[in-house]
Amino acid sequence: MPAGARPGERLGGRQKGTPNKASQDIIEKLARLSCDPIEGMALLASGKVPCGVCHGRGKTRYRIPGTDKVGERLCESCYGTLMEHISPDLRGKMYAELANYAFPKRRAIEVSGSIELTATLESRLLAGRRRLAGQPVIDVQPVVQRAIEAAEDAEEPKSEG
Ligand SMILES: [Zn+2]
Repeated sequence: MPAGARPGERLGGRQKGTPNKASQDIIEKLARLSCDPIEGMALLASGKVPCGVCHGRGKTRYRIPGTDKVGERLCESCYGTLMEHISPDLRGKMYAELANYAFPKRRAIEVSGSIELTATLESRLLAGRRRLAGQPVIDVQPVVQRAIEAAEDAEEPKSEG
């Protein structure tokens, strides 16, 4: 009898959910460098990045002009806040990126088809009454409801995350 897996039989290999070799290498490299990309993005998003100029002192040293003396002054990078200025643009990007990990991404649903509008004498009378009463002439609610139902029908057969 030949060695190896029979049809449908699974021998060895990595378990489902286990990172492949390339991913595992990257995870180990980041750990070695104490670099956590998720934590980094979270700190950027929340604006909690220590000032890289004064290193949390709020002040920097400078040579007093015309002397050999060294003075201290307010950090001109963070102005004493001790934190880097993170632009709202970058913060927004980080929040958006993190949201992808925290919440499953929703897919856009394309709705196709046509909506048939028939004007009966009754519906024209109703439209006239509505116009006189200052109400919307077309009742869009049933149309919107049908579009929602069509979208739900299109979504149901697929159950992938
Ligand atoms: Zn500073």
